[in-house]
Amino acid sequence: MTQTAVIYHPDFDLHDTGPHHPERPERARLIAGALRRCDFADRLDWLQPEPVAVKHLERVHSPEYRQFIEESCLSGRQTADSGETAISEESYRIALLAAGASVRGIDAVLRDGYKHAFACSRPPGHHARYEQAMGFCLFNNIAIAASYAESQYGLDRICILDWDVHHGNGTQEAFYNSPRILFCSLHQMPLYPHTGESYDQGLEIGHGFTLNLPVPPQVDGEYYRSLIEEELEPEIDRFRPELILISAGFDAHINDPLADIRLQTKDFVWMTEKATQWAGRWADGRIFSQLEGGYHLPSLVEAATAHVQTLCR
Ligand SMILES: [Zn+2]
Repeated sequence: MTQTAVIYHPDFDLHDTGPHHPERPERARLIAGALRRCDFADRLDWLQPEPVAVKHLERVHSPEYRQFIEESCLSGRQTADSGETAISEESYRIALLAAGASVRGIDAVLRDGYKHAFACSRPPGHHARYEQAMGFCLFNNIAIAASYAESQYGLDRICILDWDVHHGNGTQEAFYNSPRILFCSLHQMPLYPHTGESYDQGLEIGHGFTLNLPVPPQVDGEYYRSLIEEELEPEIDRFRPELILISAGFDAHINDPLADIRLQTKDFVWMTEKATQWAGRWADGRIFSQLEGGYHLPSLVEAATAHVQTLCR
């Protein structure tokens, strides 16, 4: 039995998105609260992140963009894009902290002996592009995690599994011409951000290392299971990842207000079990998972808690 690391900071609350925004402070806070009270709480070690070092952030974003986000937040602007990505004065610092949770999670599984780590963080990251905030995301946390694992630990094969209901366009772009990162995304289509076609498979030497599995609205867990076993699992076994990262969004849940997929908590448990099997087979068991979306609070808390409980088994 090994412990699972949970990376969390109470300051994640301070990224203020206003009173009516779905990506709100309670999301991470309520999950963290549930994890502290759950009956497997003694299996969790709590780690506090530091703000990410600029050199790690700037492997994924341009220096000008980092500066733009810093100045936008400090100058009192209310959004970092045309409207959906709300910011406040503290948002730059908290986005650095969320990306710091990515780096801390990689250290946990590659240096500190944890098999599994979960970053209970916000803002989310997978829509953030090299020079553009999008879809509630400022910095691309999971891409920063992957590039940090590559550069600091010399990993050659990292799988990013993105089961957030929206396509992880920013993550895909970050590694579109890399054969070292296998980016796999399950997402509803059509849906924001309207990218992630199955024929988008990577560029040049990265061709074949992007696997998009768009799913139609209203499908359920059975559909996901067949797709994962028939399309995804063979790719992962071919790739033999040394580390598995999960962009863990829970907005494919049937109760989620922003999408129209019918997963239940047991389906997130099943996907987590699958990921732990692949990690056991190829990656010495190592999984780092980071919170992305999920906007129906009770369902988000239930599914995220069950996800972490499954990582603890
Ligand atoms: Zn999402």
